[in-house]
Parts: sequence; C-alpha cells; structure tokens
Amino acid sequence: MWSSALHLLAPFKFGIAGRRVRFAQTTWTYDIIQTPGNLRLMEEQKTLLAAMTFKVDLHIHTCASKDSAVRPADAIRAAKRRGLDRICITDHNRIDGALVAKEIAPEFVIVGEEILTTHGEILAFFVSEWVPPFLSHLETLDRLETQGAVISVSHPFDRHRHPWNDEMLEAILSRLDAVEGLNARSLHAHDNQLSQEFAAMHNLPMTAGSDAHTTVEIGAAYLEMPGFTSAEEFRAGLAGSTIHGRLSPAWVHCITLVNKWRSKLGLKPRIGK
Ligand SMILES: [Zn+2]
Repeated sequence: MWSSALHLLAPFKFGIAGRRVRFAQTTWTYDIIQTPGNLRLMEEQKTLLAAMTFKVDLHIHTCASKDSAVRPADAIRAAKRRGLDRICITDHNRIDGALVAKEIAPEFVIVGEEILTTHGEILAFFVSEWVPPFLSHLETLDRLETQGAVISVSHPFDRHRHPWNDEMLEAILSRLDAVEGLNARSLHAHDNQLSQEFAAMHNLPMTAGSDAHTTVEIGAAYLEMPGFTSAEEFRAGLAGSTIHGRLSPAWVHCITLVNKWRSKLGLKPRIGK
C-alpha cells in the first residue's frame, strides 16, 4: 500500500521527471533531480562549489574483478571520452585495481569497493583500507565508518543480485549515506524504481552508476553533482545531485559470463598500468 502512496508523493519530494519508456526496458531514460528538502546538505559548501558541476559514474569494475576485463587505464580513457569528470572504481571485494587507476589519474579516480557481506552487497566510496568480503553487514559498516568512507548499497532491490529488503535496510538506515537509485545493469527497471521509492520514503540520497564491466557501458548512468575535493564534500553534495542515465542492453551480461571463464582459465588481462 505504501508503495502506491509513495508513487504519488515521490515526484514532489524528489522532482522525478523525464522518465519514459520506449519499446523495451533498455530504452528507459532517467533524469531524477534530488532536491535538498531536509536532507543533510551543507549550504556553505553548496554555495562554494555551485559554480562547479561534476559528472560522476560511481560504479565501475576493472579486470581486478573476475567478471570484468577492463584495464584501469582503459576505464579512465573511456570515461574521459564520455565526458565524465570523476569515476569511482568499485571492484568486487578488492581495491587493488582502483589503487592502480588512482595512480594513473589521482584527481579523476575515487577508490571504492563493492563488498559482499553476509546480508547483501555494500557499495563504498573513498575507501582507504581494503574491507574483506563475507563479514557481517554490521562489521563491514564498522570498518567503513572507521575510515570515513561514503556508504551506499548497490542495487538493493535487484531480484537477481543478493537483494536486500526494506526491513534489513531500515535497520541500518542511520548508517547509510545513500542507496543506489539507478544501476544501469539491472535487467528490470522496476527494481531500480523500488530503490528510488525506498530513498524517497526515507529521505535518503541516491547514488547512480553504470556497474560497467566493459568499456562500452561506462557512463551509462551517472550523477551530476556539485564539485568536491573530499569524501565530506562528496557526501554533502549527494543531496543536491541529479541522476542521469539509462539501462544497458541485456547482452552485456553475456560478456560477464565469458570473462568469468577467462578468469578461470587465466586468460584475462592483468591490472597493469
Ligand atoms: Zn558492481
């Protein structure tokens, strides 16, 4: 029942606009403005950085992930070609690929990690210390908070990928900076919509990312947000950001499968530079 009520409220709370469907789910386009409301927004920083706007893809995998073959240098090149201003490398349970990318382009790259916990996946940005997988979600949050990382939840309601549920997320709400409101790799647009509704209901900012495992996907979804130079500024800017993007075609998942096999056979590129 709450979801239908939210459907009516969401456009007013978050200024959702420009979403349309053409023929297939892969043509969904999004332009979701996250207006500040009473979200945590630091007005001073907003004023200071208002002149600068960054386009940021917050969810990119490199060949450090067993299901991607993208070298860090190639990810950076592709992202710059697409006009992105910053990217966050969020490999599965590792940060070595992100660290290599950061060495190549220190200002352009944010080090992140997509961490599999016993409950579901957590998406962290501005990670300085590796957090191992398969810990409880609470232990994972402890470790991320200690290092000041910005914490989101990847594709929280994606039915095919370790889905969370409302109760589980509500229990850790105060410890989240955001949830992922648009993941371009979701096969079902409705799963992203559930996430957007959850964020609206709890007045929580959203992040967005391509979840790219190939260079062609990079930039498929991104946030447009006030410029930032630190985790704190980034966190503050989330509330005033706008989500852009569309779902990637389903065939990209076939490439993921091929890459998993290449990993098993030792045929995947190394991180390198
Ligand atoms: Zn991912």
